[in-house]
Amino acid sequence: MNLELLDAIEEVCCYSSASCPIALHEPDFGETNALAYVKDCIDHGWVSSAGQWVTRFEEELCNQTGASHAIAVCNGTVALRLALHLLDVKANDEVIMPSLTFVATANAASHLGAIPHFVDIDQDTLGLSPLALERQLQNIAIRKDNQTINRITGRRITCVVPVHVFGNPALIEDICAVANEWNLPVVEDAAEALGSWYKNIHCGMYGKMGVLSFNGNKLITTGGGGAVITNDSDIARQAKHISTTAKVPHSWEFFHDQIGWNDRMPNINAALGVAQLENLKELIKVKYNLANKYRKSFSNIKNIQFIESTRHGKSNNWLISVRFTDTNREEACRQKVNLLEVSHQKGILLRPAWQPLHKLPMYKNVPKGELFVTEDQSDRLICLPSSPQILRKDSYE
Ligand SMILES: *Cc1c(COP(=O)(O)O)cnc(C)c1O
Repeated sequence: MNLELLDAIEEVCCYSSASCPIALHEPDFGETNALAYVKDCIDHGWVSSAGQWVTRFEEELCNQTGASHAIAVCNGTVALRLALHLLDVKANDEVIMPSLTFVATANAASHLGAIPHFVDIDQDTLGLSPLALERQLQNIAIRKDNQTINRITGRRITCVVPVHVFGNPALIEDICAVANEWNLPVVEDAAEALGSWYKNIHCGMYGKMGVLSFNGNKLITTGGGGAVITNDSDIARQAKHISTTAKVPHSWEFFHDQIGWNDRMPNINAALGVAQLENLKELIKVKYNLANKYRKSFSNIKNIQFIESTRHGKSNNWLISVRFTDTNREEACRQKVNLLEVSHQKGILLRPAWQPLHKLPMYKNVPKGELFVTEDQSDRLICLPSSPQILRKDSYE
């Protein structure tokens, strides 16, 4: 058991004085205007799916990410489904994605009847590997009638969905270059990556669309929520239209020109979001300092390695994490499980990485490439308590 590591985590989290349990990531309304903005919704009766806070939230998202358009919806899964639908993902298509991600990435494709196709990750960034993507496409894909076809299954491959895992930017430029060679559009699952950048472009802005989540455990939360960000005004218009029941604007007539969805983010949720977005830069700084504090306190501990952004990436440090580096993978996994057991007994809610999706019953028979790095890394990873409050409490004492 790596007691040194547990001691270091306790020290960063001020375990002896903190109230338990210490969660993985808690919402932080700290010094925001959240209460005033939500009260404004209640005072004026605008709590549902229309109102000025939704517009303000979308504008503020554009400001923060550099996107020309943001479309707020009720969660990240729905935002992903909407983005895939707009790229014409249909039943029986294949969507390429990593297996080391939250289940929503695959579910969103499944909700359209499509089938995830898993490709391995890059060890440093934990995101989709451009090399593995290239290799897999060369192995299984052909171009036919202007489409990319999986020649083994005969199905159309419609797009690629890289994920910026824990807020760490994937090698997105290289991924897009490979996808482009095969004429495959990219939707970036940037659900965890608000405030993360790759070479001075915000995550989510390299692909045709990016998807954000504002679930309760994310960097900022609207209670539940998501958004599609894009520079394509055509796609933005369609996204807004379909997510608002495809109703053609009119003062009294209800005319809908296609099958739409009711995916809008309610005004009261958007009000919470605006309050936190106003504080985003400060929040990112706190997270950066928290990551640094962990990094320093781990500097003499053997057998672990801090997960860092690669050279061109700038992480929002959403979930600060380490990997166990023992050359024997089973030993590394044992160390990880031991730490999880002891820390959970103490009320420090560390978390392993997700079970890779190809291990889940509904996704175990879908097409996939070699997933060695995925399986190896998922055995080694631990996410640390990463709430901004950990540092704020500390600095108030
Ligand atoms: C949170 C998350 C989602 C889904 O967002 P919800 O708002 O929970 O629906 C999708 N992908 C990833 C990688 C996520 O972490």
